[in-house]
Amino acid sequence: MEALAHRRRLFGTNGIRGVVNEELTPELCARIGLAIGTYFNGGDVLIGRDGRLSGPMVESAVISGLLSAGCTVHTIGMAPTPAVQFAVKHFGMDGGVVITASHNPPEYNGIKVLRPDGVELSREQELEVEEIFFEEKFRPAGWSSIGSIKELKGAVEAYVEAIKGHVDVEAIRKARFKIVLDPANGVGVIPALRLLRDLGCRVILINGEIDGRFPGRHPEPKPENLTALSKLVAMARADLGVAFDGDADRSIFVDELGRIHWGDKSFAIVAKWFLTREPGGAIVTPVSSSSLVKEVVEAHGGKLIWTKVGSVVVSHKMMEIGSRLGGEENGGIFYGPHQPVRDGPMSTALVLHILAEEGRPLSALMDELPRYYIMKASVKCPHELKQLVLEELVARFKHMNPLTIDGVRIWYPDGSSVLMRPSGTEPIFRLYAEARDERRIKDVLAEHVAIVEEVVRNVSKRGGGE
Ligand code: MG
Repeated sequence: MEALAHRRRLFGTNGIRGVVNEELTPELCARIGLAIGTYFNGGDVLIGRDGRLSGPMVESAVISGLLSAGCTVHTIGMAPTPAVQFAVKHFGMDGGVVITASHNPPEYNGIKVLRPDGVELSREQELEVEEIFFEEKFRPAGWSSIGSIKELKGAVEAYVEAIKGHVDVEAIRKARFKIVLDPANGVGVIPALRLLRDLGCRVILINGEIDGRFPGRHPEPKPENLTALSKLVAMARADLGVAFDGDADRSIFVDELGRIHWGDKSFAIVAKWFLTREPGGAIVTPVSSSSLVKEVVEAHGGKLIWTKVGSVVVSHKMMEIGSRLGGEENGGIFYGPHQPVRDGPMSTALVLHILAEEGRPLSALMDELPRYYIMKASVKCPHELKQLVLEELVARFKHMNPLTIDGVRIWYPDGSSVLMRPSGTEPIFRLYAEARDERRIKDVLAEHVAIVEEVVRNVSKRGGGE
């Protein structure tokens, strides 16, 4: 087993992920498949994959492991992550697997494991799979009960129909929106084209051919990767631009002026609309989201629930408390009435619905939102000191009633806010600062960078953490 297995941990924050044929070898994938098949007791498991070149290799290896555990494997071929999640629940499966590395570069691939409700496993459930894997508690089937493969048709169609059921199709059709779609040469194009045409949109497609090399742009929908989309929206006088990540669970929107809006803002617009339908509703978001979200949700009578950073945590929190909306700053919107997972095509349909209902351009809706300036920085901090540094920061800001779910987050009376959070993977503390005033933001960030640096120095002087 390669590097992944040496860590005694398979799952990261986004499932199992690694460079193909280095970390993620066919041998490892087959063993992971056997562990997953054992976990699902040889039941019915649905599998889909994104458009990566290594997809067929990783998928075949995982399938072979699942078959060895006696599973009936239902294949849907290439499909975005949220469509696979929907299909697992819709077709009554015992579990699901998505072969995807989301927004990572093309040499990566990964394996996400889904429960019967289509949501990724909780950390506790991942531990069960890891225990089967590392302690070799595999239960391979006897020769006569080895599994079989069935091709499942109609999954994407069912998914698109379900999305349409949550929006006013007639109102959207009447608006005859012109939209530029940029799926990053990823699988999002499969349902999105069908959906947008059903919604009567005139679609201009860029980076629309599925290509695992991602030749059009990097599959992470960050502003610096979306300049072509932004220009085209303005040039074509389109109403809207939308960019997905590689597996289309995240979506970033561009207004009719060609301005790219970060996920906090589109989430705030959806949250505002949602609260008119579900007054007083609870909305879930990670502590890394902008105060913009908090301000909008509270101003419209909603209740904001913070979680640790990570999309799986948001999904599980929504289900735990019965919340029907969640969102992340990176463009993940979780619309519970459809499914409590982030879903790019569903988010796109919601934004179109809101535009049709409002009868105003997206730029107008965006300009109405409270304005925040955001800056980020990082401070070096060895892994072994992170916990002590965090404790010291919590103590230091105790008088400010900090949020300590994941790192430390504090708010000042003028609305500025800082999150200081240890990175899960790198030897650094990340700082996210925001302020209502463009001049104030630099000071806020600099002050807190200095504080974190000082705490790191003090803790390491004391020889903390061994
Ligand atoms: Mg993704």
